[in-house]
Amino acid sequence: MLKGKTAVVTGSTSGIGLAIARAYAQQGANIVINGFGAPDEIERERAGIEADFGVKAHYSPADMAHGGAIATMIEETEREFGSVDILVNNAGIQFVAPVEEFPVEKWDAIIAINLSAAFHAIRAALPGMKQRKWGRIINTASAHALVASPFKSAYVAAKHGIAGLTKTVALETATFGITANAICPGYVWTPLVEKQIPETMAARGLTRDEVINDVLLHAQPSRQFVTSEEVASLAVFLASDSAKSITGVILPIDGGWTAQ
Ligand code: NAD
Repeated sequence: MLKGKTAVVTGSTSGIGLAIARAYAQQGANIVINGFGAPDEIERERAGIEADFGVKAHYSPADMAHGGAIATMIEETEREFGSVDILVNNAGIQFVAPVEEFPVEKWDAIIAINLSAAFHAIRAALPGMKQRKWGRIINTASAHALVASPFKSAYVAAKHGIAGLTKTVALETATFGITANAICPGYVWTPLVEKQIPETMAARGLTRDEVINDVLLHAQPSRQFVTSEEVASLAVFLASDSAKSITGVILPIDGGWTAQ
């Protein structure tokens, strides 16, 4: 379905991004993976994508906190693969603390990586997409693009910002064969969720089990974690030609969380 296309998936050395990168490769797209991690593990993931799906896979070490590095990642992909057809802005970090104690450097990092990085990547990728009259921009937002939770001020602000950016880009690109959508997962069991458990225990004075059952899964009427593979299937559908009229949508995949 995506043979001949190239997908850049930011933050794809782990979790949701890795599942999306593998799902696009399964559909025949060449892939650029990005993110942090142990070099040998990243190389294993990259080589695994090529071996499993017979596509080309490159790794970009670009730091999503730096606009210049993001523009370079897009330029290099266009040079090496010929195009960036699908851009998934997925890299993200979290920090949990009351707003008056929220470390300023954590605020700045979350806004840079979870929000501004998407702007920089879209800005760099759009001219080529417009020229080719085809493009898919998929932003991994969150249920927190639609509703808030206490102690996550920077994350909620960044994800609400991503919703606004997505809608604006959708309007600017609607006549160019380009769509821009935001996927809003509820809780998905990934390192990002695991890491926030101790912080949430401290912020709310709860045990680990209480955080998992009474805070995380409490938000989701399904009482189940969403899986990375489910999110990846949605990303594949949004990249397909069947989804060409779906644009500017802020789409929950959250077990009913934001229906409440
Ligand atoms: P994860 O921690 O497994 O993956 C995050 C990825 O981003 C990793 O590859 C990491 O290396 C990369 N990354 C972090 N900082 C980076 C930087 N400065 N430059 C480049 N890459 C960087 O987390 P995940 O849960 O898979 O999260 C992926 C996205 O999904 C995030 O945007 C997150 O906000 C969103 N999300 C996650 C959940 C969840 O419950 N896990 C729910 C809703 C939305």
